[in-house]
Amino acid sequence: MVGIVVVSHSRLLAEGVAELATQMTQGKAKLAIAAGVDDPENPIGTDAIAVMGAIEEVCDQNGVVVLMDLGSALLSTEMALELLDDEIRNKVALVSAPIVEGTMAASVAAAAGLSIDAVIAEASSALDVKKEHLGEEIIAVEAVGVPDCIVTDTHALTFKWLVKNPHGIHARPAAAIVGCVAPFSCDVQLEKAGQQVSAKSLNSIAKLGVRCGDEITFYASGAEAQQALDAFVVLANQHFGEAEQVEKGIDNSNESGEEPIIDTDIEGALAGISVNGGIVTAPAIIFIQEMPNVPNRDFVNAEQEVIKVERAISEVNQHLEAQAKFPHGDIFAAHAMMLADPEIAMQVEAKIAAEVIAEQAWLEVMTALAAQYQAADSQYMREREADVYDICRQVMIVLTGEKPKAITINEPSVLLARDLMPSDVAGLDKSKVVAICLSEGGKTSHSAILARAMGIPAVVKVQGCLEQVKAGDEITIDGFSGLLWFAPSKAVQEELNGKRHEWLAAQELALQHAQTKAVTQDGIEIQALANIGGPEDIESALENGAEGVGLFRTEFLFQDKAELPTEEEQYAVYTQIARAFGDNPITIRSLDVGGDKPLAAYPMPEEENPFLGQRGVRLCLKHEALFATQLRALIRAHAAQPNIQLMIPMIATVAEVRAVKALIAKQCKALGVEQAGLSVGIMIEVPAAVFNADALAAEVDFFSIGTNDLTQYVMAADRGNTEVSELVNYFEPAVLKAIELTIQSANKAGISVSMCGEMAGDVKATQLLMALGLRKFSASSTLLPALKQTVRALEAVSA
Ligand code: PEP
Ligand code: MG
Repeated sequence: MVGIVVVSHSRLLAEGVAELATQMTQGKAKLAIAAGVDDPENPIGTDAIAVMGAIEEVCDQNGVVVLMDLGSALLSTEMALELLDDEIRNKVALVSAPIVEGTMAASVAAAAGLSIDAVIAEASSALDVKKEHLGEEIIAVEAVGVPDCIVTDTHALTFKWLVKNPHGIHARPAAAIVGCVAPFSCDVQLEKAGQQVSAKSLNSIAKLGVRCGDEITFYASGAEAQQALDAFVVLANQHFGEAEQVEKGIDNSNESGEEPIIDTDIEGALAGISVNGGIVTAPAIIFIQEMPNVPNRDFVNAEQEVIKVERAISEVNQHLEAQAKFPHGDIFAAHAMMLADPEIAMQVEAKIAAEVIAEQAWLEVMTALAAQYQAADSQYMREREADVYDICRQVMIVLTGEKPKAITINEPSVLLARDLMPSDVAGLDKSKVVAICLSEGGKTSHSAILARAMGIPAVVKVQGCLEQVKAGDEITIDGFSGLLWFAPSKAVQEELNGKRHEWLAAQELALQHAQTKAVTQDGIEIQALANIGGPEDIESALENGAEGVGLFRTEFLFQDKAELPTEEEQYAVYTQIARAFGDNPITIRSLDVGGDKPLAAYPMPEEENPFLGQRGVRLCLKHEALFATQLRALIRAHAAQPNIQLMIPMIATVAEVRAVKALIAKQCKALGVEQAGLSVGIMIEVPAAVFNADALAAEVDFFSIGTNDLTQYVMAADRGNTEVSELVNYFEPAVLKAIELTIQSANKAGISVSMCGEMAGDVKATQLLMALGLRKFSASSTLLPALKQTVRALEAVSA
């Protein structure tokens, strides 16, 4: 008899389903469940080993049909398949049928002795009766209800979905779709209103122009069609990563509306669209960023030309992946995915095959793509042209070897440009660029999103600004009204001054709030610390209410420098930062480079698996002279500024800690300095450190949880690889468990524990982390006021 396995996150649910099936088949069905996990406090979850055991329990020569509930139930089941012997695995079929109706239908069919194909067919049509009763079409899938799949005439599996995302399937949901279906070896297509495109191509999906309210159909055919369809269904049910926006009906970036009408008839002003509020008067500086020219050179050969483009793309990709780790990194992650689009590669290769040189081929393909975006129906899609232009330019810069034009500004100025690329905005010095005014651009362009995130007043689509304003002219930007004033009347000037005062006063109030301690309503206080990369971040940290520095990434002092910073240079920076924070703690992390983050001034051999190679402390212990210079600078800085503490990254073993401590003792002795008093802590970012936490806690003064690396190592998913980005999720139960164990070990040993990975600044995680016992959070400065507000709003925290 065909065996049935029910995989569910909830043991109660699976037992209920099994009870029903047993009753319907009078106990004849051979049914096993794999549900919940063996953790009394968090029993919801699925476990691959349990799934494997259940399959083995009911498998005979007739095979097994597995029904699963959601998300990780599928992943656990797939993992269980990997673990099974070939002989059993080949007899197992996973079906996407709804778990209750599907299990009933499958159990009845199996109990009747039908073949596995018949059992699958029964399970797959399990909703038909209900649909018929409710008058729904049986073949089509209901738009927003429980998904189902059908086999079309062409044997493709299909799934229909009504899109509810406020902005439709724009770049980020499209990136989520590609990331979800790309790993499966099958053909996947997405259709809207008769137009079908590859669902593995970000640009093609984006060009479909799917809007809120559109119905789309997903098709999958080929070897792994079922898995691709299942994954897509799960993603669709999560509204392609935008469940929150859909549920709350939020338009969180003002992205939905068509362009506001611009009033062009204001004396002494040019009108545009407001992107970010604020009123600023400063001299204008004009920036023109051009596309590099295609060189005048001969075609080499197709292979070499293709390699040239591939190398340039890979170089830009590395840069984008690094940028993707910072706030608003999803913009750059989406750019990286655009770059990886197979359709672009195919088109470039086709041009090269026709003997067009690499630079020309790339430019032509990307220009055509930008033009397609520009011609899109929706305002939002039209504004993506700037993204295509940006990545096109970045690859052209690498291809041609042209130096990118840097925006150098010496005094506080209003930056005027035709448009700015996200990569330009990300590199702006906020203290110098007091406002941005673009003649093009859009409210929803990624550069606008970044300007908002950086708090820079900005207006876009100010037509004529580049013609009417000369470099050095004193101008006023009213970011609230979207106006550029070049000749305000006296009355207007007074009005502007009044508005400016109001704005500054409001900002002042917000900053005052930022300095207030963050205490929950039941009286639990947290410490809000800043992650910084150097002295240039001090001001922002203090303004945003940082109560010290939880992570100073010292690698920024080393990277890209032609020569390593000397002991004196390092000493000066460490003491400067420590002085700025008074008595508050300054956590200086020792050099965390190696492998993927090479040091220009200290070349090291390339490694095959850089993330598993000589990173962080491993490299420092192997290169003692390099480490010793930093330790000496740090020990001396601590003697002058006792609020300094040392943090070691990538610790896995007690032996490493002891080796570091021995080196510190050696340098203290050499310097004639007392070692006592320098707190030495470690980052918990390697799974081994979690398992060794009790032993490590006995050796060190504090732990800081680095969720960025901890997540990648626990999930075995490269944090920079968009293909596995779904796994790089710090809300995964395994990562949460690692965090919990770390906090418990620290508490048991009576040492302090903080968190300095991105999760610490994610307000969606704050309550959970506090419930796990975390009280010290270290995040990018600009995230601290919101973090504090979130804490203040919490009513009761249990730990
Ligand atoms: C981390 O891994 O969480 C961390 C804070 O360090 P980095 O992001 O610098 O690797
Ligand atoms: Mg790290």
